[in-house]
Amino acid sequence: ERGDMVLPQRRSNFMSRLKVGIMGGTFDPIHFGHLVIAEEAYISLNLSEVIFVPTGNPPHKNNKMITSAEDRYIMTCMAIVDNPHFKISKIEIERGGPSHTIDTLREMRHWYLPREVEFFFITGIDAVLQMPLWKEPYEIARVAHIVAASRPGYNVSQLESLPEEIKRAVIPLEIPLLAISSTEIRRRVAAGQSIRYFLPWTVEHFIYKRNLYSLEGR
Ligand code: ATP
Ligand code: MG
Repeated sequence: ERGDMVLPQRRSNFMSRLKVGIMGGTFDPIHFGHLVIAEEAYISLNLSEVIFVPTGNPPHKNNKMITSAEDRYIMTCMAIVDNPHFKISKIEIERGGPSHTIDTLREMRHWYLPREVEFFFITGIDAVLQMPLWKEPYEIARVAHIVAASRPGYNVSQLESLPEEIKRAVIPLEIPLLAISSTEIRRRVAAGQSIRYFLPWTVEHFIYKRNLYSLEGR
């Protein structure tokens, strides 16, 4: 019977452990540097999906200087819409206040129950080097793999300086280097320079439509 053959396969799928990538960032705005490291991690680590998690707006920060969480969320949606294994979560935006990766990882684990899930927190080397300053960094390294993607200006050998508790969770990932940053995109827009081919054109046009990053928009 066909049913007999299908059932064991279904059961083994159900029991297998999921490998989920988490791509955190301010995404102010999202650009091809973010999209390339997420896709490379998805392929080389054989992940089931990658969830983009835009950070919330810290209430203590001057809200004029950082783009609203809503606009950053919309830009991130537009950037990932054509990729079937990219997803997005508002978890850090809705939580409000400063975003802590450890809180997000703890909360997300419940989403997958009763399945077991292996998390891969995807970052650039610059972000990994900052990690000792984050909330509960050793816990982050205990509950997730930390994927450290190469980024211009940073070197894999710098990872050696990390404390052992973090280092043992780090998976270095060599990617085609893209010298693109959100800072450079904001600077170019403010200076009236082109940002074409730095980021998806949909996001580029949204920036102009909402008058983000221009001197008057601030
Ligand atoms: P900003 O200049 O405002 O800091 P950013 O370009 O660094 O923006 P973030 O939102 O701060 O973007 O970064 C989110 C994550 O993406 C971080 O882990 C960062 O290291 C990584 N990342 C961003 N741009 C690149 C890039 N060009 N190559 C590799 N990793 C990148
Ligand atoms: Mg950054």
